[in-house]
Amino acid sequence: MSPTTRRSFLTLASGGAVALSAGREVFDNGQLPGHSSSGNTVLQDREFLNVMAIAAHPGDAFFAMGAAVAVATHFGGQGSFLSLSLGEKGSASIPVEQYGASQREAALKAAALIGAQALFLQYPDGQIPVNDEAKFAVCDLIRQYKPSTVITHWKGSWHKDHRACHAIVDDAIFYAGLPAFVRTEAAHGVSKLFFADNWEDATGFVVDTYLDITPVFDHWLNACSAFPMWRGESGFRYNDYYGSLAVGRGCLSNFKHAVALMSPQEQRVRQIRMS
Ligand SMILES: [Zn+2]
Repeated sequence: MSPTTRRSFLTLASGGAVALSAGREVFDNGQLPGHSSSGNTVLQDREFLNVMAIAAHPGDAFFAMGAAVAVATHFGGQGSFLSLSLGEKGSASIPVEQYGASQREAALKAAALIGAQALFLQYPDGQIPVNDEAKFAVCDLIRQYKPSTVITHWKGSWHKDHRACHAIVDDAIFYAGLPAFVRTEAAHGVSKLFFADNWEDATGFVVDTYLDITPVFDHWLNACSAFPMWRGESGFRYNDYYGSLAVGRGCLSNFKHAVALMSPQEQRVRQIRMS
């Protein structure tokens, strides 16, 4: 493949996606080594300085969404991990109660390593309910922690808990932002919502944003290793998958390591004015 074709292919492969960095430098990301700029510009996005990951299970929160939370804390911001269940039915050999306790312990340890909060709602694994009680419980935590950016599951998932989490978060953000819903905490508007690149939520997942996670890559992997399942003990090699996915996503976005994100349709609208 000629350099020109390779550059064109990279632009195509990234699908015209936006590349984001939470760092203080705004720089041109279009330049491949030895070649002129292709014109893609990295945007600095301060909304990644307060990120809440909301997942059905602790593993999803840390493995698929955790690097973005680590970016927030790395750059002096705040991060939180909210798990709607403990994922306590995720082991074929360890009793449910014992496994739930170990998942909670791992989440607390991993969050501490990242400098973030670990939050739990403890709905039953496999039976997360989609109702107003759950939506207002998430709404209240959004109002309490005031994230600028929320990352959650994409709805194209084979896992019913992941689809439930997607639906709950969508309405919880709406409830959180509306002052007319009077709760203990004041209303809080979330600026950005993103869906995470999760191997279980791949149906119809379309990348439109890449976040540079290079400064936190090793740190985030280390935090994930607090979970026994990270090493493949539940049957899926999470460490190999998410570690190499960050490398592959980095290749497509011209960062060393990156996570890919998907925006809701309405968030993709951009206004342009020439002056
Ligand atoms: Zn899950």
